[in-house]
Amino acid sequence: MGYSGFKVIKEGLFGQKGWKPVWRNPDPKPEYDVIIIGGGGHGLSTAYYLAKEHGITNVAVLEKGYLGGGNIGRNTTIVRANYFLPGNSEFYSHSLKLWEGMEQDLNYNTMMSQRGVLNLFHSDGQRDAFVRRGNAMINQGDDAILLSPEGVREQVPFIDFENTRFPIYGGLLHKRGGTARHDAVAWGYARGADQRGVDLIQNCEVTGIDIQGGVVKGVQTSRGPIRAKKVAIVVAGRSSQVAEMAGMRLPIESHVLQAFVSEGVKPVLNNVVSFGMGHFYISQSDKGGLVFGGDLDFYASYAARGNLPMAEHVMDAAMTLMPAIGKARVLRSWGGIMDMSPDGSPIIDKTDTDGLFLNCGWCYGGFKAVPASGFAYAHLIAKDTPYKTAAKFRLDRFATGQGLLDEEGTGSQHNLH
Ligand SMILES: Cc1cc2nc3c(=O)[nH]c(=O)nc-3n(C[C@H](O)[C@H](O)[C@H](O)COP(=O)(O)OP(=O)(O)OC[C@H]3O[C@@H](n4cnc5c(N)ncnc54)[C@H](O)[C@@H]3O)c2cc1C
Repeated sequence: MGYSGFKVIKEGLFGQKGWKPVWRNPDPKPEYDVIIIGGGGHGLSTAYYLAKEHGITNVAVLEKGYLGGGNIGRNTTIVRANYFLPGNSEFYSHSLKLWEGMEQDLNYNTMMSQRGVLNLFHSDGQRDAFVRRGNAMINQGDDAILLSPEGVREQVPFIDFENTRFPIYGGLLHKRGGTARHDAVAWGYARGADQRGVDLIQNCEVTGIDIQGGVVKGVQTSRGPIRAKKVAIVVAGRSSQVAEMAGMRLPIESHVLQAFVSEGVKPVLNNVVSFGMGHFYISQSDKGGLVFGGDLDFYASYAARGNLPMAEHVMDAAMTLMPAIGKARVLRSWGGIMDMSPDGSPIIDKTDTDGLFLNCGWCYGGFKAVPASGFAYAHLIAKDTPYKTAAKFRLDRFATGQGLLDEEGTGSQHNLH
């Protein structure tokens, strides 16, 4: 079933009775060409691009819960391509281009809103760093505009410009960045994959990975064993646990990241605003809720809920940046499990087991990566060679120390700064 404005009007006039389930609910077959473990954003986009770009459709996505119930449905939906260093910058640049064509490609309303991402700075040193970053973004082919304090005031008049500890020196505006509706992205990719014949199997937890003589043979699941020629792990915060089923110890720690949303208020924020000095960022949803968050909870955990000290820290930063926010009531808070890698950058690679692939390490920024990650992972699975924009996301960089990808561009590779 294709979606269109005409269809929406027709259904509105005739009682909304013509809509059909968006994907099938198949039982697992005994064998597939490819099994994808994890029905989050990255797993679903991988399945979609495997089918669309490579014609590989004898594929199952195995999800232990329901599609989109993991971090893909828990994030704060920010999409951007404002990375500084090569490795990440070309990858996220590709991702943003895929975001821009996603709704047409999927025939699905993902509510992509290029409202601009604004990074504030509060000192001369920070301004220099953002000038360099902006130039790197432009060299990559993306957009960046350096704003004066007055320029920032035009964009976001409701923040505190008089704060003595964090005076606003200006901001770096990335206009093509913005937000998209997170679970619609999962649903759109799920629908596209299902339409091309991929089996999306929910309530199916992978409990073991079958390997014989260094070659993957399939998986054990809560719904029985399933054979496969290739198995692709893409389970975000659960990466270490699932990789351990194949005897691997990953350089990944799982941490909680929280987010918060206020009651709906009238429009006060046009952009996504990032206040790095306070480890705080905020945007306003289409319903009017102020959606905001901060840093990790800083202890390893598999609990998808956070703790009060970080909630207090985030509220503190919110009041510092935008004191008026104190009048809004917080409606909800939640947490997700982040797969943190040592250099803040992801892994999309083959493993030492033939036919077993790994995609993880998305840290707190993997939503904006969903299209490019699926595109690159599908390429790797189909062709056994890395896709050009993800060529640096090798697993062995953590063993050799060669090719670490300092995500923030703030200094783990000192020779670059
Ligand atoms: C509060 C918060 C805010 C965030 N904000 C942003 C943001 O603004 N911008 C941004 O770019 N990123 C953001 N992120 C990060 C982003 O959400 C994640 O990096 C990304 O969603 C992870 O990839 P995924 O969607 O595939 O993960 P998930 O949706 O978690 O998918 C993994 C799936 O694997 C399944 N699984 C696990 N183990 C098994 C098993 N044994 N068998 C079968 N299935 C299994 C899980 O149930 C889950 O559904 C945020 C995250 C959080 C929590």
